[in-house]
Amino acid sequence: MDNHPRCCIAGGGPAGMVLGLLLARAGVKVVVLEKHLDFLRDFRGDTVHPSTLEVLHELGLLDAFLQRPHDRVDQLRATFEGQGFPVADFTHLPSYSKFLVLMPQWEFLDFMCEEARRYPGFELWTDAEAIGLLQDNGRVNGVRVRRGARGPGSPAGGKPQEVELHASLVVAADGRHSTLRDAAALPHISYGAPIDVLWMRIPKQPGDPDATAGHIAGGHFLVTLNRGDYWQCAFVIPKGGHDALQQRGIGAFHAEIAKVAPFMQDRLPQALPDWNAVKLLEVMVDRLESWACKGMLCIGDAAHAMSPVGGVGINLAVQDAVAAANLLAASLAGTATDKQIDTLLPQLQRRREWPVRVTQAAQRMVQDRVLMPVLGGKVNTKVGHVPWPLRLLSRWPMLRRLPARAVGLGVRPEHVKSPRA
Ligand SMILES: Cc1cc2nc3c(=O)[nH]c(=O)nc-3n(C[C@H](O)[C@H](O)[C@H](O)COP(=O)(O)OP(=O)(O)OC[C@H]3O[C@@H](n4cnc5c(N)ncnc54)[C@H](O)[C@@H]3O)c2cc1C
Repeated sequence: MDNHPRCCIAGGGPAGMVLGLLLARAGVKVVVLEKHLDFLRDFRGDTVHPSTLEVLHELGLLDAFLQRPHDRVDQLRATFEGQGFPVADFTHLPSYSKFLVLMPQWEFLDFMCEEARRYPGFELWTDAEAIGLLQDNGRVNGVRVRRGARGPGSPAGGKPQEVELHASLVVAADGRHSTLRDAAALPHISYGAPIDVLWMRIPKQPGDPDATAGHIAGGHFLVTLNRGDYWQCAFVIPKGGHDALQQRGIGAFHAEIAKVAPFMQDRLPQALPDWNAVKLLEVMVDRLESWACKGMLCIGDAAHAMSPVGGVGINLAVQDAVAAANLLAASLAGTATDKQIDTLLPQLQRRREWPVRVTQAAQRMVQDRVLMPVLGGKVNTKVGHVPWPLRLLSRWPMLRRLPARAVGLGVRPEHVKSPRA
């Protein structure tokens, strides 16, 4: 039994890796399970918010983190029918880092992993999928894990095997399709979402606009994220619109992108020769009614799937992890009994549910009142009909601090209070 970790975290995304690092730092023996072989998946968001940078600063890791390749963003811009508008200004935030960082998420996760591995209690198992829960007398006390299903580089040498991993606490950080929250039969409220996202890479060329931005034109909405030598693009479509779009053909899709980002027009046939170059990412918004049961806690998207609106889901996942470590690290590092740990678990939901509710309500409002009218062609795009929020933000620089605060710090930012062993 002594070889078992005190805590097992399913999911090596932002929530799982940050919690793994914080618990290991506090002296807790912790195993993080990640079903993939590595962190190299490009569909993850790239945003690292000032509140996450604050956490890194509090941990003394910010300077090392900023050595990784990144794009620093002081202001966010939107273009409406080709005309540029500043919408958010991070330079006045009441935080140590008065900017946002765009960093491919595999770099962020790799950095967390590298730092966590400095602590003897930390282990990351890759190619290790949590497939079910172990229970004793109605209390979760571990996870069934399938190892080695994904490749010859895996610890099982390509032959999948199932193992049982016992732990005093199981944390489900396995994202919006969480296997563990389903295994625990935790009920959730689903809000649906009227949009999906098409995700693709377009190479950059000299003379392109420099900044990461949102573009609205001709009934379309496109976000371009600066990833060095290419644009990572998110093209928003109405939910269920993917099939119809495909039937119109890839050439028609090129024309739609060219309408909203004319500077990309010439390179589209080469960058997107067919639909294989375009990934459909489904958007969903939901929230668990209860984030915990005996022996198990859900955090991040496993507790509350976030829409991409505002690019704040990673931030919330990190804030959940910081709050969970503040709540549990000392008890897990010490001699707290399972029963004592169980009495702490509901406190996380009491602390984090309000920020999540407020953020999801704002995301749903933007989906319904901004994105859907844009996609439905209900926004007046005639020259001179710039929407009033863009006009206000353009005219009054002070107002740009508000969206910066909402996106950059969010509601109830968390600070590291968990101990260092
Ligand atoms: C289209 C789209 C774009 C988005 N863009 C942004 C953005 O730009 N910025 C932003 O802040 N947010 C964005 N979001 C939201 C953001 O992706 C999530 O809120 C955030 O990733 C949640 O982090 P997480 O760690 O909880 O879960 P995830 O990031 O989903 O991580 C879960 C991890 O668990 C692993 N896993 C899953 N199941 C298992 C299992 N059974 N066993 C072991 N491992 C498992 C997965 O491989 C993954 O690594 C976007 C969402 C969508 C849908």
